[in-house]
Amino acid sequence: MNDAGRRQLAFIEDRPLYPVILATAPVLLLYLDSDTSIAVVPRPLIVAAAVAIGLTLISTLVLRSRHRGAVAAAALVLLLQVRGIGEAAVLTLLGASIGAVIWLVAHWRGIGIRGTSVTSVGNTVGVLLLVITGAMAVGEGVIERTMAEIGQESAVESRDEARDGPSIHVLLLDAYPRADVLESLFAFDNQPFLSSLEEQGFHVAARSRSNYPTTEYTLASVLHMSHMDELPFGHGSTRRLIQSGRALDLARQHGYTIRANRPPWDNVAIRSADVLCESGFPTDVEDHLLAGTVLGHLARFVIPEVDTTVRHAGYTEHGFECLAQAAHRTEPTLSLTHLPVPHLPLAFDKGGASPGKSLRGDSVSQLNVRFETFADAYRDQLEYLNGRILSTIDEILTTAAGREAVIIVMSDHGPEPGLRELQGGRPIHLERYATLFASRTPLVPNPFDDAATTVNVFPVLFNSYLDTDLTIKPATLFKPREGFGTVEFVEAPNPDAP
Ligand SMILES: [Zn+2]
Repeated sequence: MNDAGRRQLAFIEDRPLYPVILATAPVLLLYLDSDTSIAVVPRPLIVAAAVAIGLTLISTLVLRSRHRGAVAAAALVLLLQVRGIGEAAVLTLLGASIGAVIWLVAHWRGIGIRGTSVTSVGNTVGVLLLVITGAMAVGEGVIERTMAEIGQESAVESRDEARDGPSIHVLLLDAYPRADVLESLFAFDNQPFLSSLEEQGFHVAARSRSNYPTTEYTLASVLHMSHMDELPFGHGSTRRLIQSGRALDLARQHGYTIRANRPPWDNVAIRSADVLCESGFPTDVEDHLLAGTVLGHLARFVIPEVDTTVRHAGYTEHGFECLAQAAHRTEPTLSLTHLPVPHLPLAFDKGGASPGKSLRGDSVSQLNVRFETFADAYRDQLEYLNGRILSTIDEILTTAAGREAVIIVMSDHGPEPGLRELQGGRPIHLERYATLFASRTPLVPNPFDDAATTVNVFPVLFNSYLDTDLTIKPATLFKPREGFGTVEFVEAPNPDAP
């Protein structure tokens, strides 16, 4: 072996790298396994590496050997990632048994266990893990996907500096039901809120629907002004479709700057916006990595937003701020503000504080309360949310740019059909498509149909305000049928279509 090889071997035997590899591997594996943006990877990767390095340094000081310190740090790194006491006990038992067996065999055969050999075994296993991860990344096209994302630039070369139209602000309230559904499902009268919107100059569409039952498909079709079956769509590519929305490029061509907030769900974040309004709150990828783990429970004391309910509320309040900021811009602005409420979990009580612990749950199946208790809390949250919407719009209307602007208040889909079951009835699937839609379109008579559907939001707006002649799409509703690696969109007639 030459000198360089010997130095490399000494490095591998001497520097325990494996605690860092063990800590960062889950982040890399999650990125490989799911269609998430590369932008969400650096922070958890850095945090994981920093935690592992910190633990290694502390254990080294305590145990007065970096090799023993690394073994302890690796064990702690694994324990921090464990979900629940049961898993922690199993892992501890397994680790202790393996250690005991190795020690017994070594003792019986008269071999001394040297620190350097433990470190070199740990490092070798760690590096192998990285090599396998890398090979998987190449095999699954992750490298190409990442490079394409890093190299992605706006398709628009020249931007019209002349102002073509007023600013457009879209407030997307996730899963906000239409008034008739709120009435029949929650016995909630939303008329006072809708009347206040009308007083602010809005027109409320009474029979509006989303064309799709989930955020990702609604948003992709809204931003492309097309139905999903007309788009180049493969499994897992809605996130990329959302980034390349044709409506965004068309607006840019007409001199608009695109502003968007970052919602908690990475797959529907419009990261390609010219200005991304960032809160810095944990992403859903980080939430997924931390949820239920020992590290997650500890992190909550330092960063309150690690708690899902606090995070949901934080994203909502921050979204309102993003909208207000965008509305104060005097240059032509197209802003898209996606608030995660009233989609579950419930994030607010009537006064805007956190609702009780028993009301938590990311979906209906996770709710552990009677329907009436949930409905009470839901109505309280809606009162608070409605008040925040109205006060934000009041604030927008105090400026000249705000008064001239188009404002759309809409939802991407309705409530979960499972709520009817919680209520003791049968699910009504078409309720999932019954959405809130209110538009304030100064300077032109209300261009939207009373049975407006989401796919046509931008074609109708652009045809009214810019010199475009975009095709108005049929008001068909589509149910996605997700197979292995494919999605088929099955048509359903829209009962509200004119
Ligand atoms: Zn949604």
